[in-house]
Amino acid sequence: MFENKGRTELNQLGEFGLIKHLTKDIKIHHHSTVKGVGDDAAVIDLGDAYQLISTDMLVEGSHFDLMYTPLKHLGYKAVVANVSDITAMNGKATHIVVSIAMSSKFSLEAIEELYIGLMAACEAYQIDLVGGDTTSISKGLVVNITVFGQVSKSKIAYRNGVKEGDLLVVSGDLGAAYLGLHILEREKRIYLEKPDFQPDLEGNDYIIQRQLKPEARIDIVALLEQLDIQPTAMIDISDGLASEMHHLSDASQVGFTLYEDKLPIDPIAYQRAIDFGLDPTVAMLNGGEDYELLFTISQTDYEKIKGTMEISIIGHAVAMQEGIHMISKSNIKHKLSAQGWKSF
Ligand code: ADP
Ligand code: MG
Repeated sequence: MFENKGRTELNQLGEFGLIKHLTKDIKIHHHSTVKGVGDDAAVIDLGDAYQLISTDMLVEGSHFDLMYTPLKHLGYKAVVANVSDITAMNGKATHIVVSIAMSSKFSLEAIEELYIGLMAACEAYQIDLVGGDTTSISKGLVVNITVFGQVSKSKIAYRNGVKEGDLLVVSGDLGAAYLGLHILEREKRIYLEKPDFQPDLEGNDYIIQRQLKPEARIDIVALLEQLDIQPTAMIDISDGLASEMHHLSDASQVGFTLYEDKLPIDPIAYQRAIDFGLDPTVAMLNGGEDYELLFTISQTDYEKIKGTMEISIIGHAVAMQEGIHMISKSNIKHKLSAQGWKSF
């Protein structure tokens, strides 16, 4: 019998509070477990290299809407989200196992589409699909992938390695996946009101692709190696820049100063933010699912990285007690919460 402990609502803790609570008493039994909970992937010592393990679950209704998400894209994105977590350790994904739970509303042809997407991603990222599990549920679709990867011991990048003075760097551009989602949600609303209307996705290819078919930045890991730069810390941007900066801050016990005018955004994404009445900076700070890499490098590596097209230096690490701030374009210092920044 369980003792009666009363009742605590999950929303009192939030996602990260819940994970912290559930994992605080975990006991490690093996010396080979180098890192358990708390980074983008777990780290296991294989002797001559580290093995990386991470898992990610996508739930219909919470993470995707099949009204505008082709199953092929969903399969592709599910792999990418996992590969991205291995990439964020400066590693290379090698194997996945895939578990699916589906209701009877899905046909064989539909699930085949999902697998076409999964396999296309395995081809693109050179990953072997080596197992999984298949089951039924009363409603909807759930896709869970566990990914395995490897990294050499000297190359691994954790969340906790940031040093005061390090440069904060981001790959690619930010906010586009979030604005792509806005376009898709808008077209869905119009469709539900007037089903004979054709969706108008003209001119939005890039931002819709960023939402439906993102890529993991394995090219950045290769680039850093080529430039002979070891990131002091790294994380992937799945929940939004502001949230990931807080994770780096918590793990490394540093603060950050970020410069609004350095934040990278695609011109169409910028325009669509304005069209929707959103602040483009808010989209960059809070918009999730870009799967870009956020990392820090020592200032002494500046000469090696400056002028590199694929990345932007957006700020630097400061002392923990200074906190996390953004210097706006008008030179005003704003405190950044994990939810980012509310424009006014
Ligand atoms: P990410 O955003 O990189 O996918 P998450 O925020 O999902 O990472 O998870 C943060 C950390 O908590 C990871 O180390 C993950 O393995 C761990 N974690 C998440 N959920 C659980 C759980 N239910 N039990 C144990 N560990 C968990
Ligand atoms: Mg991650």
